[in-house]
Amino acid sequence: MLVDAERLHIAVQKSGRLSDLSRKLLADAGLRIANGKNALTARIENFPADLMFVRDDDIPTFVADGVCEWGIVGENVLKEFALDEGEERCEVVAPLGFGHCTLKLAIPEAGEWRGADGLHGQRVATSYPAVVADWLARQGVAAEVVKMNGAVELAPRLGIAPVICDLVSTGATLEANGLKAVETVLESEAVLIRTRKPLAPVKAEQGERLCKRIDGVLGTRDAKYIMLNAPSEALPAITRLLPGAEAPTVLPLHGRPGHFAVHAVCRESVFWETLQELKGVGASAILVLPIEKMLP
Ligand code: ATP
Ligand code: ZN
Repeated sequence: MLVDAERLHIAVQKSGRLSDLSRKLLADAGLRIANGKNALTARIENFPADLMFVRDDDIPTFVADGVCEWGIVGENVLKEFALDEGEERCEVVAPLGFGHCTLKLAIPEAGEWRGADGLHGQRVATSYPAVVADWLARQGVAAEVVKMNGAVELAPRLGIAPVICDLVSTGATLEANGLKAVETVLESEAVLIRTRKPLAPVKAEQGERLCKRIDGVLGTRDAKYIMLNAPSEALPAITRLLPGAEAPTVLPLHGRPGHFAVHAVCRESVFWETLQELKGVGASAILVLPIEKMLP
C-alpha cells in the first residue's frame, strides 16, 4: 500500500454490510471519491485524503497503529479489538447511525433458557471471544468460549457448543438454523474512529476539517423544519413537544388576532405520534420539511 505522508488515510470496509453506507456518509460530507478501479485505495479528489479498502476486522489495528488516521467500523469489531489490545488505542469520535446489529446468545429452539447462571461449565461458540468472555465474567459465569471464524450457527448441530453468540439483525438466520435468541450481549452500530497516535499539525488540522464535515451530515440527518399555526395559549405546550428544537420563531398571523405561526428546526426524528400530539394541544396546518444543509 502506497502511503502518502501529506494525505489522511481513512479505513473503510472493502466489501460488506458497511461498505456502501460508509462511502455514502463520506460522499454526503462532500468528499468526491474517485471511482478508480484500484480496489485497495481510492483518492478523494477535493480533500487531502485517501480511502483504504480493507477487511472490517483489520480497521481497528490500522487506526490504532496510525497506518490510517481515521476509520469507520462496527462497535462489535472495535470492542473485540479494544478488549484484546487496549481501549486507549483508538478514539471513538461519533456513532454514525447505520450498521445496527445486536450480538446475542442463542440456543436450539427446543432448549430451555435458565438465564446466564445456566451457562456454568458450558461451551459458547462465537466469532467475538473477547466480548463474550467479558460479558460472562461480568455475569459471574465460568463458561468456556470457543472461537469460530464463521458458520457459528452450526455449532450446536455439530456438537461444538450448545450455546452460540452471534450478530443478529432480523433473527431470520437463527430461525433458519433452528435457534432462538435468548440474551443480548452487545448493541452495536458503525462508529467513526481516529488514531491516538500523535499527528503532524497539518494532518491534525485536516482531520478536524473532516470531522466537522461529518458532524454537519450527522446533525442534519434526522433534522426537520416544522411549521405550524397555533393559538397563543397553546404555545407553551407546543414548544415542549417539538423534538430537539432550539428557540422557535413565533410570528403573528395576519388577520387572526391571538394566533401565531411557529417555525422550528427539530434535531430529532419527528414521528407521526408527535404530530398527533401537536394537533391535540391546538396546532393546525402542520408542515414538516427536510433540511438539506445546516451551518450552525
Ligand atoms: P469482512 O470481509 O470485511 O471481514 P464481514 O463478513 O466480517 O466482512 P459483514 O458481514 O460485512 O462483515 O458485516 C460488517 C459489519 O456490519 C459487522 O461487523 C457489524 O458491525 C455490521 N452488521 C450490521 N448488521 C449485521 C448483521 N445482521 N450481521 C452481521 N453484521 C452486521
Ligand atoms: Zn470481518
